[in-house]
Amino acid sequence: MKRFNELFTPQRLFVIFLGIMLVPNIFLCFTEPLPLAFKGAYILLPGAFYLLLLNLSRKPGIVFLSLLPLHFIGAVQLVLLYLFGHSIIASDMYLNIFTTNSGEAFELLDKLAPAVIGVLLLYIPALVVAIYSLRSTKELTSPFRKRAFILAMLMTGGGAACYTSAHHEDPQVARLDNLYPINAFNNARFAIKSWEAAKKYRQTSKDFDYRASSTRESQLPEVYVLIIGETSRAANWSLYGYERNTTPRLCARHDIIHFDDVLTPINATHKSVPLMLCPANALDFQQIYRQKSLITAFKQAGFHTAFLSNQLHNGSFTDFFAEEADYTRYLTTRPEETHRYDNALLPLVDSLLHCGVKKQLIILHTYGSHFNYCERYSPENRLFTPDHIDKIDRKNRQAMINAYDNTIVATDRLLDGIIALLDHTGHTAALLYLSDHGEDLLDDSRERFLHASPLPTYYQLHVPCILWFSPQYRQLFPLDAELAQSHHDTPFDSRVAFHTLLAIGGIETDYRNDSLSLVSHAFHPGERYYLGERNTPVPMQHIPFDEEDRRAFGQHGIALR
Ligand SMILES: [Zn+2]
Repeated sequence: MKRFNELFTPQRLFVIFLGIMLVPNIFLCFTEPLPLAFKGAYILLPGAFYLLLLNLSRKPGIVFLSLLPLHFIGAVQLVLLYLFGHSIIASDMYLNIFTTNSGEAFELLDKLAPAVIGVLLLYIPALVVAIYSLRSTKELTSPFRKRAFILAMLMTGGGAACYTSAHHEDPQVARLDNLYPINAFNNARFAIKSWEAAKKYRQTSKDFDYRASSTRESQLPEVYVLIIGETSRAANWSLYGYERNTTPRLCARHDIIHFDDVLTPINATHKSVPLMLCPANALDFQQIYRQKSLITAFKQAGFHTAFLSNQLHNGSFTDFFAEEADYTRYLTTRPEETHRYDNALLPLVDSLLHCGVKKQLIILHTYGSHFNYCERYSPENRLFTPDHIDKIDRKNRQAMINAYDNTIVATDRLLDGIIALLDHTGHTAALLYLSDHGEDLLDDSRERFLHASPLPTYYQLHVPCILWFSPQYRQLFPLDAELAQSHHDTPFDSRVAFHTLLAIGGIETDYRNDSLSLVSHAFHPGERYYLGERNTPVPMQHIPFDEEDRRAFGQHGIALR
């Protein structure tokens, strides 16, 4: 203890704690595209504030320990900077932590290990030293505290000068609420507010009514299927020009319409999937808290509805909407269970098709291409090898791509299989497939991986979308297939799923907007918006994409609008 006291005097601890608290700010000054003067304010203003806080007690350890939430956010911020290369912790990141099962977090630990170890080495010894220092009788001296106070005042003055000049230059970026940790705390607060609003969802949506009706003959047998893809990116589908034959079955079919320029409005499952299912969109996301999904619209119009999921419950709107169905089934219910392959959905669809109801809507929520890729496909879909990786890094990239491509092969087989089942019924039928978002696969020197990053990439946004009509459907409504085909290269986003399915199902409701229906003459999707931080809509063309992404959008012929 004596040696500890000599080594860690209160004054030294004061400086160490201040330095540790400023580490995220220092990193962010390098990673964020901020005006130079604002970078000055980015260090000086929080630095002055931390100085004043540490000065509150004669024992700086007390203050340091009481700021545990700040250190927690700092640690998460540093890990995310390591993972994504830039950006403040988004409110969605907090939500993702609570809506993603712990198994996935462990799958990621490998990749994050260096960052997690680094962060533990930074914060844990500091916390231990802070606890020890409480037992020491030594305290900060009055002259030291006076000097610290004067320094804080000087830093405040310098920070204010930097801030004023930066704000004058760039009022959009140089804002007080853009300073770390204010921005990180605001995002955390927004995440809590969203979480609470979602908990009240049943109450806020209970009076929602589509007043939907069907325009079809009551005796006409109809079945419509929506397949929600997971983490499948268009860039790895041969149907979209990928050099490997990952979608041999769909490519061989001549009755598939594939849409080339489809973007997701958000790169995270818990928002992207619900937005396919209800009328809310990136421009008015808050509407979702009072809406129900198209399942309710189909039910009101006399359809039997089923929601089959190969994903876990995640506490998001997807779960709420799934409950609307007459028949809801999750193949996996506990995080510790191994996920089944998506092809386990096939026999369930088959039995639904033979259950004797006239009109059906079936929604399948697949697990598609979600990490860990090699666990998503059965041996028959293992076309590309080697596909086993111990670690995600450049060295293993080819094996990782092989595994990812095999998940697309499995999706191709699943879609082809379900189309065959529908075809076999001889009913008026249609199938829409759309992926919730794409994935980064260490595509360039940025070495980006996975999805749901604060700033999306081309690879996370460009998604595959296909539509199939049964011969009976084409016979009854020949114009629908023609119109859909004519829109195959029109740029649009996932908003179309909701409106197109209602139109295909012949369902009328005030919530159906034919300018977003692929089978309408009125189809005119307009500008695409991304669901930005705190649910603010951002026109796609205004997203500050990295140069690598702008290039990739161009190479794949995707319009940034
Ligand atoms: Zn997803």
